[in-house]
Amino acid sequence: MTIPSGIIKIKTYPFPTLLERAQEVPLGNEDGADNHMLLRFANGMMRELLGESTGIALAAPQVGVELCLVVVNVLKLNKFSEEDFFGYSDRIMINPVILNKGSIRSSSLEGCLSFPGVQQKVTRAEECEVKFINAEMVERTVQLKGFPARVIQHEVDHLRGITLGNYMSDWKHRRERRKLLETWTIQDQLDAAECMGSLLD
Ligand SMILES: [Zn+2]
Repeated sequence: MTIPSGIIKIKTYPFPTLLERAQEVPLGNEDGADNHMLLRFANGMMRELLGESTGIALAAPQVGVELCLVVVNVLKLNKFSEEDFFGYSDRIMINPVILNKGSIRSSSLEGCLSFPGVQQKVTRAEECEVKFINAEMVERTVQLKGFPARVIQHEVDHLRGITLGNYMSDWKHRRERRKLLETWTIQDQLDAAECMGSLLD
């Protein structure tokens, strides 16, 4: 597994990794070197997340990396709930999988760091059960409800190449995509082209 060691920067839609299914992080390597690299990368993502005042969580495809990895601002997320679903070690979620979703669904407006300035109404299960490996390399299964359940479903969507764009009407999707592309720098375009090339390899 190659874990990027360069600059970590949030990519906006439609950066190619936001549209692709991410790869599972291979684990069980006894030498720990890969784990060290992975945690370093996750910490870099966390720095990027904490730099965004509206950010609560960030998935690796949002920084151009096709890995099933999510970082969570647990202090912020726990504040949205009466229960503390997450401990400090759960700030890093490796290979998160939604095991179950409750049957009750609700709609709410969501934002996304890859869609700055955009809000989209999304219908999701009010409760879900998520399994992941945390920063201590411990497997965790957590029952979530309310806002934290919504946030984690949003992040797991990212690992499957699903974004707010998938929940928009065609006309809104086209409009927001065009507006976001207009904000791209030449460097963003070059990064996207390079990324497309490596995804095709
Ligand atoms: Zn998002």
